[in-house]
Amino acid sequence: MLLFTPGPTPVPEAVRMAMSTPTLHHRTPEFEEIFAEARKGLLKLLKMPEAVMLASSGTGAMEACVLNLCHKKALTVNAGKFGERFGKIVLSCGLELRELKYAWNTPASVEEVLDAVREDEDIDAVCIQIAESAGGLRHPVEEIAAELKKIRPQISVIADGITAVGVEALDTENIDALIAGSQKALMLPPGLAMIGLSEAAVEKIGTGRGYYFNLAGEISKQRKNTTAYTAATTLIIGLNAIFTLIEKRGGMERIYKETAARARANTAALEAIGFECYPQTPALCMSAVYDEEADTIRDILKKRYGVNIAGGQDHLKGKLFRINQMGIIEPYEAAWVMDAIESALSDMGRREYGGIAGRVFNRVYFEEMQR
Ligand SMILES: *Cc1c(COP(=O)(O)O)cnc(C)c1O
Repeated sequence: MLLFTPGPTPVPEAVRMAMSTPTLHHRTPEFEEIFAEARKGLLKLLKMPEAVMLASSGTGAMEACVLNLCHKKALTVNAGKFGERFGKIVLSCGLELRELKYAWNTPASVEEVLDAVREDEDIDAVCIQIAESAGGLRHPVEEIAAELKKIRPQISVIADGITAVGVEALDTENIDALIAGSQKALMLPPGLAMIGLSEAAVEKIGTGRGYYFNLAGEISKQRKNTTAYTAATTLIIGLNAIFTLIEKRGGMERIYKETAARARANTAALEAIGFECYPQTPALCMSAVYDEEADTIRDILKKRYGVNIAGGQDHLKGKLFRINQMGIIEPYEAAWVMDAIESALSDMGRREYGGIAGRVFNRVYFEEMQR
C-alpha cells in the first residue's frame, strides 16, 4: 500500500534500519553525541538561534509554546482543525483568547490580524499555522509576522510549521517559535516534536512555565546535549538518519525543489482531469480537492489501486481528499497516485480513462526539475 496521507508519511527503510539498533541509555556520552548531531541538524533545518526537541506529538509543542510564550492573551487564527486547536490550548492554559475565524479555504488577512492586535493591548502572542492541514491552506505567516513586529515588537509569533518545516524554505526572521513534528515532512514515526526559538523567545520564556513542558528547563539541558526527562532516543537516532538521507539526496534545497515540483505537477494533473484545488492559497504540503464523492474515490484508491490518501474532517467529512506532497517521494510513486485517481473516476463512470493525469504529472514534474 502506498501511504500518501499528509501525515503520517512513510518512514524510509534507511531510517527504520537506523532505529532498529539496541536501545541506548539516554544519560551516556554515546547518546549525548547522537543528541549533539541531531541538535546541530535541527538548528540548521529550522534556521533559528535556539531549538528544543520534546518527546510528544506536535500538539505537545503547540501547548509548550502557548504556555511559555503567552503571558496574558493570545490571538489565534482558526481556519481549520489545527487553528481551532490553538484556541482550545490557550483556554486550557487559563489565558485569554481572541480568535479570528476563517472558512477552511481562506487565508488569514494580514490587515485583520493587525487590526485585532492594534485594538487590544493585552495580546502578547499570535498563534497561527503556516500550513493549515485541515484544508491544505497556506497562511501568509511571514508577512503577518513582519507587520506585527512593526506595530508591537515585543509580541511573540508562534508559528505551527508542522506541515511547512522541511517542505519549503521559510523566512524565520520575525517568527519566535517555529514548531515541527516528526511524522510529516521528516518522515519519522510520530512522537518527536521540535521547536525553533528566537532570541527574544528565549528571553521571554525566562524561568519557564508548566512542568513537563517547561521550555526553560529544556533549553538549559539541551544546550548541554541532554534532556530534562527521558529523551525519545530512538526517534532522535531516526532524525539523524533522515538528515543523512536528505544530504545524500542533495540537501534541503533539493528537497524543497522536488516538493515544489511535485505540488505543481499534482495540481496540473488534477486540474487536467476536472478537479479544482480547495484552498484559495494552496500549501505545498498537500493537494486538497473538494469533491462530493471524495470518499468513494478514496475507497477505490485503497481497495483497487493500493493507495491510501486522507479525507476531510468535520463539515468536510466525505467531501475532501488530501494527497501528501511532503518528504522524499519518488516521482513514479506520485505519478501512479495521479493515474490511479483518473482510473477511479473511470471506474465510477465519471470520465473515460485517457492516461492524462499521469502524463501531465510527468511532463510538469520533469520540466520543473529541469529549471
Ligand atoms: C499534524 C499536525 C499537527 C500535530 O498533530 P499531532 O497529532 O499532535 O502530531 C499540528 N498542526 C498541523 C498543521 C498538523 O498538520
